[in-house]
Amino acid sequence: MRTDKLTVLALLTVLPTLSCGGQFADLILLNGYVYTVEEEQPWARAIVITGNTITAVLADEAEAEAYIGPNTRVVDLEGKLAVPGFIDAHVHFAGFAAQQHDIMLMNVASDEGLLEELRRVVPLVGDGEWITGGDWAGAIQWMAGTGELDEEGPVDRWEPNRFTIDDLTENNPCFLNSYDRDLYLANTVALEAAGLLTTPVEGMQMRGRVPTGLVYRGSPAIARIRSVVKPKSEERLLNEYRTGLQKLAEMGIVEIHDMFRDFSQVERYVQLQESGELTVRVWVRPWLDLQDEMFQRGLAMGAHPKTGERDFFLRYGGFKSANDGFLGSRGAMLFEPYTDRPDYRGHYQEYNSDADRPGSLVGNPEVFYNYCKAAVEHGFSVDAHAIGDRGISEVIDVLERIQQDLDADMSMFRIIHAEIVQPREFERMKALNLIAETNPSQLADDMRWLLHRLGPEREKLAFPFRTFVDKGVVMNFGSDIPGNAGAIFFSHPRYVLNAAVNRTNNEGEPDGGWIPQQKLSIEEAMRAFTINGAYACMREDSVRGSIKTGKLADIAVIDRNILENPDDLLNLEIEMTVVDGKVVFER
Ligand SMILES: [Zn+2]
Repeated sequence: MRTDKLTVLALLTVLPTLSCGGQFADLILLNGYVYTVEEEQPWARAIVITGNTITAVLADEAEAEAYIGPNTRVVDLEGKLAVPGFIDAHVHFAGFAAQQHDIMLMNVASDEGLLEELRRVVPLVGDGEWITGGDWAGAIQWMAGTGELDEEGPVDRWEPNRFTIDDLTENNPCFLNSYDRDLYLANTVALEAAGLLTTPVEGMQMRGRVPTGLVYRGSPAIARIRSVVKPKSEERLLNEYRTGLQKLAEMGIVEIHDMFRDFSQVERYVQLQESGELTVRVWVRPWLDLQDEMFQRGLAMGAHPKTGERDFFLRYGGFKSANDGFLGSRGAMLFEPYTDRPDYRGHYQEYNSDADRPGSLVGNPEVFYNYCKAAVEHGFSVDAHAIGDRGISEVIDVLERIQQDLDADMSMFRIIHAEIVQPREFERMKALNLIAETNPSQLADDMRWLLHRLGPEREKLAFPFRTFVDKGVVMNFGSDIPGNAGAIFFSHPRYVLNAAVNRTNNEGEPDGGWIPQQKLSIEEAMRAFTINGAYACMREDSVRGSIKTGKLADIAVIDRNILENPDDLLNLEIEMTVVDGKVVFER
């Protein structure tokens, strides 16, 4: 008996090492297609995962048998497609999370729509908590061509009132706003809290002597209400993060490159990681304003915010800068004036001028130079928002000087958005090995009005994905979620990949694509949305970003073979998401 028991024990300990020189797997995906984005072995049939690591990528799934132990979960892909998980290299996560969890009215311009959204939100927030924001009618105004284009007039402005929402919001003061922040809506509880119900002040819409709850921009009434709004509770903010994380997992996104102005954003990530709830890798970039504080605290790029050690799950990224504005609001800096505003060529930001607010017409490149110099001296890179051709060119001018003066490796510096690029800039970017952090899904919005802003010649320069690849500039994809006051941006791979490959909007228009000469192949788009995002984090493409033995296990499973049929990208569904070896979503 005794011997038998020992034999069994011996077998149990020996068996794992007998099979395939490793151990039993924790997770095996088989019976589908595996697209690895690795050139040497682009296709496989099964993936073996042990702990957080891919321990085998098998061309013959019969070989998977050897890795199956008593605790191995075997997932039958049923002919579906496993790919490296998607890396969204540009998100504003706190804003996205708030928009997903809290009130979101960008698609709302009716009483029914407002009520429907409040019915969803009120149960999510505690009694007495304020419900604020919403940006009502933003996307709808946007859809109507921002009201500026000759062929499309503005839509009629919808004006809500407090009586519609009072019953639903008895216990929650509301202070909502239109997307352009021209109009605000306060419910009765909010007016009471501000002392405005019985003694109205200037800026309130009145029906006779009764306030409707509508309040106008910049008025004394706004100031009064603002002074009594209570900030969101920490628990509510954590719940927003939880909802945001869930949405990312549902989209097959395994990593985000976020940015922060407030260290509490980072602390929230740490807290969720400690409670086992952080289901996405985070590369979190401080705005340039935080440079001194980052240096004083001794924080390093690539290091975990708490341990200070090099980390592949949660770590600080390079600094985030903004060097011009946006094309939609004619803030992006151009060499030649806007076609639809001949006296204007865009503006500088506080990071490349002597102004302390964005919007300056006079630049000072030394301001940006000094930020970049300090970053390099402390081991950081800088990711600079630049959209217009002049904005981009002036960023490269400064980065060339940094490279020469400091003999710096610039290969982790990124130009964010890089939307209107003059032909000469590609070689300059390549010479410095800069990364182009582009936003394909924004093309869906911009294609509708860019001709108007820039005219036919410059329009052709927009979103030059093909040229970046042809010129050897590393390009990664970000979404810039949640969007701006007028547009919702999309992180779902169906929109990001479709915009890059087919260059159509989210409805598949126009036929044949917009500026079709800049289309990418699906293989190129996949690299930009996976392994290139890993490369852009201190070259982590050596440890993750593709499906390869020894790499960290970040995987998305798609319901169809998009490599075979890229025309069908807009219909793709995510079936499963694996981050660091753990299944964080399955349909
Ligand atoms: Zn952004």
